[in-house]
Amino acid sequence: MEFELVIGFEVHTELKTRSKVWCGCSTEFASPPNTNVCPVCLGLPGSLPVLNREAFRLALKTALALHCDVPPITTFDRKNYYYPDLPKNYQISQNDKFLGKGGHLEIDLGEAGTKRVGIDNIHLEEDAGKNLHPEGKALDYSLLDLNRAGMPLLEIVTQPDIRSREEAQAFMASMRNFLKYLDVSDCKMEEGSLRFELNMSLRPKGTDLFGTKVEVKNLNSTSVVLKCIDAELGRQSELLAEGGQVVQETRLWDEAAGVTRAMRTKETATDYRYFPDPDLVDVEVTEAYKKEVLADIPELPVARCRRFQEKYTLSAYDAGLLTSARQTADYFEEAVRLHNNPKGIANWIMTEAMRWLNERSGADELTMDDFPVKAPAIAELVRLLDEGTITGKIAKQLFPMMLDTGKMPATLVEEKGLKPLDDSALEPVVEEVIASMPKVADDVRNGKGKAIGALVGAVMKKTQGKANPATLTPLIKSKLGVE
Ligand SMILES: [Zn+2]
Repeated sequence: MEFELVIGFEVHTELKTRSKVWCGCSTEFASPPNTNVCPVCLGLPGSLPVLNREAFRLALKTALALHCDVPPITTFDRKNYYYPDLPKNYQISQNDKFLGKGGHLEIDLGEAGTKRVGIDNIHLEEDAGKNLHPEGKALDYSLLDLNRAGMPLLEIVTQPDIRSREEAQAFMASMRNFLKYLDVSDCKMEEGSLRFELNMSLRPKGTDLFGTKVEVKNLNSTSVVLKCIDAELGRQSELLAEGGQVVQETRLWDEAAGVTRAMRTKETATDYRYFPDPDLVDVEVTEAYKKEVLADIPELPVARCRRFQEKYTLSAYDAGLLTSARQTADYFEEAVRLHNNPKGIANWIMTEAMRWLNERSGADELTMDDFPVKAPAIAELVRLLDEGTITGKIAKQLFPMMLDTGKMPATLVEEKGLKPLDDSALEPVVEEVIASMPKVADDVRNGKGKAIGALVGAVMKKTQGKANPATLTPLIKSKLGVE
C-alpha cells in the first residue's frame, strides 16, 4: 500500500524586543548565566507580570499578516506543568481567547508555484529557561540558566496541510522568510529564536481520513526536521504495512542514532489544567489599533516575488532569489529605479554580490546591507555598460576595485584610464595585428568569416580589453577590405 504524508507544524519564534514579555529584563543573547533575571521571571512569590506592549504589537502584526481573525478581546492563561527550567511551575500562554485564529501562509514551491498552508491559531506566550548538562565533567547535578525564562515567544500552529518532504522544506523556508520580512524575529535557528516542531501521520494514498499522529520535538535545524520526516516515514509505514498501529505520543529526535524515540504519551489539554491568569488583565484590540499595525506590514515575499516576475519580466527562479531576503529585494529595486535594466542589474546581484555574501556569511548571516558596493554604484556600472562607455571585460576589472575602494565606477574609469579606445587610437593597433597575422588575415579575405575572431582577440589582448567588440569588428573588416 502506498502512503501519503500528513504534516502540521508548531512554530515557535522569539520576538525581537529589547525586554522580556512580563518584566523589564534584557533579552540579549549569550549574556552570562542568570544575569538577565528579576523577581518576576524568577517566579518569586508576590511578583506581578506586566505585558510588554511591543511584544504584543509584534505578535498582532504577525497574526494580521497571516490573515488571522483577531478577536476584540484576547486573554492569557496559565499552563501548569513542573520542570526545573520553569520557575513559576506554570507557563503564561493562551488557550481560550487566542490572539488569532484561522488564516494562512502562502508558501513558495519554486517552479511548482505556491500553496496555502492553513493556520489553526497563533498565540503569545513566554519561553522557558535552559537546563545545562556540562559535558566531560563528572557532575552529579545539572545547571540552570534562567536568562531565557520569560522571553516573548510566539507560537504559530498550522493545519495538517503539508503533504510531502518538499512541501515541509518549502514551508520552513517560507515561514522564516515571512518572519524576517515582517521584522518580528531575528529567526536564528542555531540560537533557538526559531524552532519547528512537527506532527505527522500517514494515510493510504487517495483517502482523506487522518491517521494517528505523533509529535516530534528537539528539532534544532531545518535539515534535522527533514531527516526526522524520512525516519518517521520509514517507521510508521513499516508499522502500518505489518498491520500494526501508530501510538499517539510525543517523540524526541535522537540525532546520534538518526531515529525518533518515544518520550511520553501525548498529554491532553486537561493535563495542563489551564485557567485564566488572574495576574493579567484582558487585552482589547481596537479596530484603530489593528489599522495602525496593519499599516506597518510590508509587501510579503511571495507577493513580491510574483510582482518581480510581472513588473521586471524576470524568471520565477531569478525573482525567487532576489526576494529571498528583504534587503536584497530593496537593493534591486533601488538600483532599477536609478537605471532601468532589471535583468542586467539582477545578474550582477545574483552572481558577484551573492558570491561575496556567501563567502563571508558565517553563523551571522550577512545581508545586502553589509555589501560594500551600494545600489547606486551597481546601477551606474550597468548604465556605463549599456551606453557602451565600458566593455564587459572592463566591468569585470572594475568590480573588485569598487569593492576595495567604495568608489563609483565612473570615477574609477576616469582615474584608471579605462575608457574604451576610439577608432583613431585603435587603428594603429589593428594594422599592427593584421601585419603580424598574415595567414589569418588572408583567411578572412578569402571568405572564412569566423577567422576574424582571432584578430579581435589579439587586439583585445594588446589593448587590455579597452577595445569595444561592437565597433572593433567593423574596423578590422574595413582594414581588410571585406564586407
Ligand atoms: Zn525579569
